[in-house]
Amino acid sequence: MRPSGDSSVCLGIESTAHTFGVGIVDSDGRIVVNLNSTYRPPLGVGIHPRKAALHHVEVAHDVIRQALGMSPLQPTIIGFSAGPGLGPCLRIGATVARTLAAFLERPLVSVHHGVAHLDLAISAAGARDPLAVLVSGGHTAIAVHIGKRWLFYGETQDITLGNLFDMFARAAKLPSPGGVSIEKVAQRGTTFLPLPYTVKGNDVSYSGVLTAALRLLEKGERLADICFSLQEVAFSMLVEAVERSLVQTRKDEVLLAGGVAANERLREMLKLVADDHGASFHPVPVQYSGDCGAQIACSGQLAYREGFSLPVETSRVIPRWRLDEVDVTWIPRQN
Ligand code: AMP
Ligand code: MG
Repeated sequence: MRPSGDSSVCLGIESTAHTFGVGIVDSDGRIVVNLNSTYRPPLGVGIHPRKAALHHVEVAHDVIRQALGMSPLQPTIIGFSAGPGLGPCLRIGATVARTLAAFLERPLVSVHHGVAHLDLAISAAGARDPLAVLVSGGHTAIAVHIGKRWLFYGETQDITLGNLFDMFARAAKLPSPGGVSIEKVAQRGTTFLPLPYTVKGNDVSYSGVLTAALRLLEKGERLADICFSLQEVAFSMLVEAVERSLVQTRKDEVLLAGGVAANERLREMLKLVADDHGASFHPVPVQYSGDCGAQIACSGQLAYREGFSLPVETSRVIPRWRLDEVDVTWIPRQN
């Protein structure tokens, strides 16, 4: 194990889905480089894993070269997102990371993408022991850190919030990322259209909301009203589950992380609930909400300092990897 306060500099590689990213953090956990290139599928089409992987192959060399050129510091650790994610995409990032680690003779650290969202959010938004709300393409989870793990307090029983938005946006022929398009269109909404509201304890279920929203689209309802209603219902469900979890856990901080955390309406609603319960609200800064190399660099460095590194030969990707299966013995410092 390395002592904290060492001079390690971590280069992290993100490649779980649409983004190939490289981030570099200095020994104090400050982000010195965050360079990302994102694959955008054609209108109305989802991410095809092999096409996204091909994008990563095409851009990897340039992104790494530029990132290293921009960094005032040479990396001493290489981190990579080992999962969860799309197999073909994960394998590109892992191969690049292994090659760099072997060539530069640096230790290699395997990073869980969801843990990395939380690590970066805690470090950038400042929190000590929060109720964490992770909302992205891959996760919709309410989690607390107990012992050595993030444990789910609530989660989606089917699709994630990011999936809900992306799938609806595809059907409505709105550009990717779906959540960003829906947020923009929703601002012109004037009429609330009822949609199914399903909260079960601390869990939410979004598949019924998606089916009903798609039916409204087929019926020819105004798109702005559907987007507005979709956001209101989907966020209200999550916020109800968060509120119940907050009361039950008695946490005094709410952390918001993941791509959907960029949404202004969600931030507003969660802040109201946090305020109501005397908790402080810590949303990740918008520029670090979506998938990026910086989250992997941040998490890789924290993991390395706790003794988590592995030989290149035994490193592997884990496309299905739950957040609560990972040992997380650290809590980041605020920057
Ligand atoms: P991530 O996997 O963390 O990169 O998150 C990607 C997900 O965040 C996608 O499903 C996007 O549609 C969604 N997303 C990004 N920006 C927003 C936004 N402003 N509002 C809602 N969802 C968003
Ligand atoms: Mg993500």
